[in-house]
Amino acid sequence: MIRTTYIYIIFSVFIAIAPWVFPESLITIINYAGLFGLVSIGLVLLTGIGGMTSFGQAAFVGVGAYTSAYLSTVSQWSPWLTLFVGVAVAVLIALALGSLTLKLAGHYLPLSTIAWGLSLYYLAGNLQFLGGHSGIRAVPSIDFFGITIGSGRNFTYFVWIFVGAAMWLASNLLNSREGRAIRCLKGGRTMASAMGVNVPMVKLKVFVLSSVLAAVSGWMYVHFQRFVNPTPFGLNYSIDYLFMTVLGGAGFLPGAILGTGIIIALREWLVEFLPLLFGQSGNYETIILAILIIFMLHRAPDGLWPQLIKILNVKEAPKFTELNVTKEAPLERRNVTHFNGESLLVLEHVSKRFGGLQAVNDVSFQVKAGEILGLIGPNGAGKSTTFNLLSGVNPASSGKVTFLGQDITNLESYQVAALGMSRTFQHVQLLPHLTVLENVAIGAYLRCEAGYIKSMFHLERDQESQIISESLRMLKRVGLEKHAYISAGSLSLGDQRILEIARALCSDPALLLLDEPAAGLRLKEKEELAKLLDQLRKEGLGVLLVEHDMDFVMDLVDRIVVMEFGEKIAEGLPEAIQNNQVVLEAYLGSTES
Ligand code: ADP
Ligand code: MG
Repeated sequence: MIRTTYIYIIFSVFIAIAPWVFPESLITIINYAGLFGLVSIGLVLLTGIGGMTSFGQAAFVGVGAYTSAYLSTVSQWSPWLTLFVGVAVAVLIALALGSLTLKLAGHYLPLSTIAWGLSLYYLAGNLQFLGGHSGIRAVPSIDFFGITIGSGRNFTYFVWIFVGAAMWLASNLLNSREGRAIRCLKGGRTMASAMGVNVPMVKLKVFVLSSVLAAVSGWMYVHFQRFVNPTPFGLNYSIDYLFMTVLGGAGFLPGAILGTGIIIALREWLVEFLPLLFGQSGNYETIILAILIIFMLHRAPDGLWPQLIKILNVKEAPKFTELNVTKEAPLERRNVTHFNGESLLVLEHVSKRFGGLQAVNDVSFQVKAGEILGLIGPNGAGKSTTFNLLSGVNPASSGKVTFLGQDITNLESYQVAALGMSRTFQHVQLLPHLTVLENVAIGAYLRCEAGYIKSMFHLERDQESQIISESLRMLKRVGLEKHAYISAGSLSLGDQRILEIARALCSDPALLLLDEPAAGLRLKEKEELAKLLDQLRKEGLGVLLVEHDMDFVMDLVDRIVVMEFGEKIAEGLPEAIQNNQVVLEAYLGSTES
């Protein structure tokens, strides 16, 4: 079995000797692959993993290039100084664009980045101080401790050191607390918020990060090329960057390098070869490349990198395992224990309308510490909607929700989670490609604080160790520890529900909301679950349990609230509810039980 580390080593050796053995033309390709690769790494984070599409990356490259070209020629600043200015300008633009669009779902980011890409191109072409369409000439080379980064060879090392650093930083980031939050952006946003992740903020940070990488690439480009004009920063180049990333494998960092390498080499080769074939030049390479890309993506929809590692039988060394535990100290508890009987959650006359449908109508109840409250009712009664409005997923239309004495009616999901409420979902929300253990670790998000910088330099080892230990402890608690290192998607549906409970517990909540946790469980598993919930109740947790399975509910819960057609029709002890005429009619009247 080969490790990905070996591939990195082989590739580094290749880059180290390449300038000495290859002809100038090939070295130029390698140099450009590095420059484009840097942008592409940003796109892996943004698009492949974060699920956001930007058509403005080339424009961010342009910001880095133009800022540095202008300041280093007209103002004669050192290129090292202009690097920081260029990055700062890119960050400001990304912040402005991002904060306007990232809160909105849908096509706002692609559309606004298209507008941004177009406007930079035309702006640079029309501004006289930036040289208009003929651009800025005589840009100085970068000086690195007395070495001029001018020639092909020096530049190869220079650009690939940056690429290597970017890969290392990005890979560290993805394997961290913040990285797990980034991975939730695609398909797990509701869940991430419920675990305390401020989703729009994470999106903004990733967007800024990708624009920083693009600006750095532009900075290097302009000091290598020694001149700049608007052409390479237009919309078509942004599309190229996307193609390269997707072709290489947008979900994988090495895919960024693979994709850019292949496309740049192919294009170079086609540009030389096609005119010989057709007898005239005419940008045929663009058409051929497009056909090739469509063909390859048809064969390998996830890109070429996953195919390559399958063929070579390469395995990534797992990073998130008990073998990497260096510090055993448990994570700090987040909540002081609450005395039994204390009101944790209070709903007062809450209602929720969806257009013409009154999904929840004037519902009031309380959940206390040290009790399990069952919320039952026929399908469509409004139980899940109630869950969503009290956990901040959908705000209530009217009424008031109080948690631990604080009005949370209008708080966002991640803010409610931060106060100590954690939940599972009726339709499980997991990251199927991550391991069971990594999924549980998402629950620990609120109990740690390592941010982007610490994570990128992997300075949060101790904290990661603690998260691993804590997540394992939670898995043991729910009886899933033997599956810790398989992918979450390969668990049975019943076990996936149990995994969600472990994840919720990992956040050390005061109140646990469970939406139909016993669905799909076998009898024995249900008994185990009941035992666990009973244990949690004894520890002083409040549990709000939505469940269909009557036997499971009646034996376990302290009190029951019954809903039908969005209204509370009964509340009381299990025995009383079982003999309640209204409840019996509601249940007999519906086909579901
Ligand atoms: P339960 O969980 O008790 O089975 P739900 O709370 O899921 O019921 O649904 C209550 C009612 O609200 C149903 O009629 C459902 O179709 C409707 N509903 C739920 N969510 C939405 C939504 N996001 N938009 C519109 N209608 C919804
Ligand atoms: Mg439901």
